[in-house]
Amino acid sequence: MKQLSQLTAKDLSPWIQQAQIQAAKGLVPDRIPQLAVADPRYFAVHICCTTGESIGYQDTACVFPLMSVIKPFLLLYLLEKLGAEKVLQWVGVEPSTAPFNSLEQLIADGGRPRNPMINSGAITLADKLPGKDANQRTQQFCQWLNQLASCQLTLDESMLACVRLSRSPTNLAIAHHLHSSGYLENIESAIDTYEQICCLSGQVADLALLGKLLAAENHLLKPQNCQLVNGVMFTCGLYQASAEFAIRIGLPMKSGVGGGLLAVIPRVGAIACYSPPLDSVGNPLGAIAFIEALSGSLQLSVFSP
Ligand code: GLN
Repeated sequence: MKQLSQLTAKDLSPWIQQAQIQAAKGLVPDRIPQLAVADPRYFAVHICCTTGESIGYQDTACVFPLMSVIKPFLLLYLLEKLGAEKVLQWVGVEPSTAPFNSLEQLIADGGRPRNPMINSGAITLADKLPGKDANQRTQQFCQWLNQLASCQLTLDESMLACVRLSRSPTNLAIAHHLHSSGYLENIESAIDTYEQICCLSGQVADLALLGKLLAAENHLLKPQNCQLVNGVMFTCGLYQASAEFAIRIGLPMKSGVGGGLLAVIPRVGAIACYSPPLDSVGNPLGAIAFIEALSGSLQLSVFSP
């Protein structure tokens, strides 16, 4: 059996072909008009190993907004800057069986965000980012990530303009509820910051480099923070489908409505995919199929004997 670091483009090709058949069964989301125009046939993958090898395949030049894939890194940043004790006062680490933008779940939980991988948790954490306003917070966070991971995320201004114009009424309602339950200070700047960090964009290579931060020892990050983020991704990263994929794939993963998907293989590396069509939960169908095939063939699951 090959190791992740030994894979060639020829090895990846059949898995990608299969994944693209699955992707064709999904739908490109239409809530944000600029996301809706993404070509559903795009498929890109980048694998980064902790030993230094890396390989990209297919439409790797595509730049896409991270959307919810930024959430684990928002959590990581705040854990590093403010410490776990503080961060865990604001958000829980309980999986949710409701959709990622469920207001009902938040209300049922008395206004406390269940975890930072869903919108209520991420909007709450966006409110706590250091910086005088949303622009400065986003800039500082983006710089920190780029420096640490040697990646090149940028803020996609035209995507942000589109996100603002089509602002999600559900996210706004979530922010109002968080405010009334005392978890959020400033509704407008929290939503503004949340929308901006969702529009941080890059290629699959950038996303894989970010994932590598969580896979390898890094003297700039506390290992217990990486462990916490990986644990939350594992149990909550794919929303209500997290438990199913924890068993089927066995890796910490995070999806975004922009078509991005990140899988972390602790101590080994990270796999980033881009494929715009989503399933009914909001996870990129083809990207998940690809990771499942790869993880199965190479026995990447953290539970592999
Ligand atoms: N900005 C998106 C939203 O809040 C991000 C959600 C996601 O990627 N699942 O609707």
